[in-house]
Formats: sequence, C-alpha cells, structure tokens
Amino acid sequence: MGSLGWERSFMGWGVLLAFVLILKPAGASTHESSAVEIPRKFLEDAKSKEVRDWMVAVRRRIHENPELGFEEFETSKLIRAELDDMGIPYRHPIATTGLVGFIGTGKPPFVAIRADMDALPMQELLEWEHKSRIPGKMHACGHDAHVAMLLGAAKLLQQKRETLQGTVALVFQPAEEGGGGAKKMVEAGILENVEAIFGIHVSFQAPIGTVTTRPGPLLAGNGFFEAVISGKGGHAAIPHHTIDPIVAASNVILSLQHLVSREADPLDSQVVTVSKFNGGGALNVIPDSVTIGGTFRAFSKESFTHLKQRIEQVITLQAKVQRCNATVNFKEPFFPVTVNNEDLHKFFLDVGSDMLGSESINSMQPLMGAEDFSFYGEEIPGYFFFVGMKNETQGQFQPGHSPYFRVNEDVLPYGAALHASLAVRYLLEHQPEVTSPVNSSNSHDEL
Ligand SMILES: [Zn+2]
Ligand SMILES: [Zn+2]
Repeated sequence: MGSLGWERSFMGWGVLLAFVLILKPAGASTHESSAVEIPRKFLEDAKSKEVRDWMVAVRRRIHENPELGFEEFETSKLIRAELDDMGIPYRHPIATTGLVGFIGTGKPPFVAIRADMDALPMQELLEWEHKSRIPGKMHACGHDAHVAMLLGAAKLLQQKRETLQGTVALVFQPAEEGGGGAKKMVEAGILENVEAIFGIHVSFQAPIGTVTTRPGPLLAGNGFFEAVISGKGGHAAIPHHTIDPIVAASNVILSLQHLVSREADPLDSQVVTVSKFNGGGALNVIPDSVTIGGTFRAFSKESFTHLKQRIEQVITLQAKVQRCNATVNFKEPFFPVTVNNEDLHKFFLDVGSDMLGSESINSMQPLMGAEDFSFYGEEIPGYFFFVGMKNETQGQFQPGHSPYFRVNEDVLPYGAALHASLAVRYLLEHQPEVTSPVNSSNSHDEL
C-alpha cells in the first residue's frame, strides 16, 4: 500500500483528542475534524488497488478451500501467514483453530473486531473460476469475505500502529454455523480487558456502500431440539397390533404449531419449526420409532426458556396420548439473543455517517436468524451490523446458505474500513480519564 498523506496529521492527535474530549477547550474543532476524517480516509485506502486486490485474492483462496466448524486449519494457517507478513503478533491456537491478533500499544483500552472462518456442509452450484474445490463444502454465508475484511482492517491498522491510543484485538473465530465457536473463544478468555467488540455480516439485500443495523435486539436466540418417538412396529395391514409412532409424531408436530400461534404473545416474535422427520422405509411396515427435530427462536430469555420447556412437554405428553414414549434432546449450546448495545449504536452512527453519509446507514427490523456473536455480547458491550453487497448492475445476489450464494467483492473495502474506523475511533473516544493539568481540584467547585 502506498504512503498516506494523513499519516502525519494522525500522529499525536490521539493524545490531544483525549484532552479535547475531557476539557473541551475552544480550539477543539481542528482535532475533532481530524477524527471525522479517519473513516473516509480508511475507506479510500481500503479501495486502493493494492489493498483491494489483496483482499480479493485472500477471499478467493479461502473460498476455494472451505472448511467446516473447528476444522478451519488451512484457513487459520493462511491468516497467520498474512499476519506474520504484516508483523502482527497473535495468540494461537484458541478454540482449536481460532486466533487473536494484536495491534497497538499492548495497553488499555482494548477493543475487539471479529470475523468468523467456517464454511457450510453444502455443495456449491455456482460455476465460476474460484468455485469450492471441496465437494460438499461451501462458503455460502460470506465468512470467507469476513476473514478478508478483517485482514484488510489489520493492514489498515498496522500502518497506523504508532498512532493507536490503545490496543485492537483481531478476533478470528471458528465454527459460527451452529458450533458456537464464539462461546469457546470467550471461555478461553479472549475478552479479558476488552471493553467492546464489533462484528460484521455481509448482506445480499442492502445496496453496496450502505449498512443496515438497529439498536437493541437484532437477531433471535436459537435452540435446536431432536426427539425420538417410540412405539411398536409391525405389519402396516394390522395396525391394531402395533403402536404407530408415525401418527403419534404427526400429532406431536401439529401440537407444536400451537406453541407460537396460541401461547405466545403475538407482539413477542417467536418461531418453532420442525425441519426433520425421519421414520419408516417399507410401504407395508409400521416402524418402531420416528425421529423428529427442529429449531426454536425467541427474542427474550424468558420466552426462550418457556418455549424450551413447552416443546419438551408437548412432545412427551402428546406422544403418550398415542401410547408412545418420547425422549427429547436439546443441542448445546443455545445461541443467546444478539443485542446491540445502545451506546455503541450511537457511536456506530457517528463513525458510519462520517464514512458513508448518514443516508447510507439504514435501520432494519430484527431478524429471526441467529449469530453466535451473541456470546460476546453477553460478556461485554457488543455491536453487530450488516454491510451491503447488492448492485443491480451485477445481477441478482442470493441469500446466505443458498448453493448459488455469491459475494460482491466490492464489499471488502467497506468492511475493512468500517472495522478499522470503529476500532480507531473507539480507542480515541474511550481514553482513560486524564486530569486537567490546570487546577483540576477546583473544577468541581464551579459546577
Ligand atoms: Zn450462515
Ligand atoms: Zn454467517
């Protein structure tokens, strides 16, 4: 990347800004205007041919070699090689394949920016030069782009490392897709001393150059259940000599539909979906048992816990009505609700508007989708948002988890610059309190 004209003005104003924020003297505007410039300049740098092309190449290499949760060994290796190249130290391994890089003073404040690394167990159907080379595995959620963006941010930040007013932690986590990699990262202590964390997801719906977000609950809490409903198999022509688990399971599924439609507050969004029904084989045999399973989602802990209890009750008791036994298993960990911290939302609006203009920051409705980013948000203030990829001139973009999912690589500079800007501005605006050198003891008397 080429030299940056603003390097010099950036130097040193961090300390000054800390004073500005606390003392607010009349001359504050020059320093504040420098801070306002940061996001736009980061975007300019991220869009430079050198940085953009490098991020695109990184993303394509990861896309060609997708790895599932906790198996991201090559992806992790690639990230470490890039960090080594940039001279960025890191802690590894964490949660099997995860790692955390560090840029800055090594001292507080600490702020984290996060990317997920895992792919999905599905076949890519899109034909293109850098299609997945691993049958049955695909980056269909954009996590390859998330890694490239975070590495892009690392590059932007490393060039400013001397000027950082604290430490940025680059969190590369495994197993977002149902594995709860974030939980393992938290358990490994990566959030120790970290004050706030930011996460990005690409969006196929939002136009390129825009972001969508909201304060408060953003994504639902999510749990998975599986149940085995056991009866007594036998000849399909002699049902009275059997205990039919297929009919029992069918009634169970219908009863489960009433949890949301009849028991939940219509204004409190919840979902119960049975997405699995396995049982039987031969057309003249009633099977011994049927396995069903699915997901349940809610936006509060209370609703979530209530749903979980009722799912278990409905399955076991409804199965009994038909003389069957049922056992219910819940898959751990449950993903908590992803909640955007209100103060970080205000902070995000400032930084995002300085980069993209306020008209490009759009608010969104909460989604019933889930993110394991929520595990970070349970520990420290967290903020998650979507960065747009849609560009009508480049054809249709498919939703995440589609076998035709494709990333608009023009999104990479936006993600990198947003990550870097949020981190730098966060550090600047969260400096430890500095006492005024002039008569600070008197200041209270004047209030
Ligand atoms: Zn996904
Ligand atoms: Zn995802």
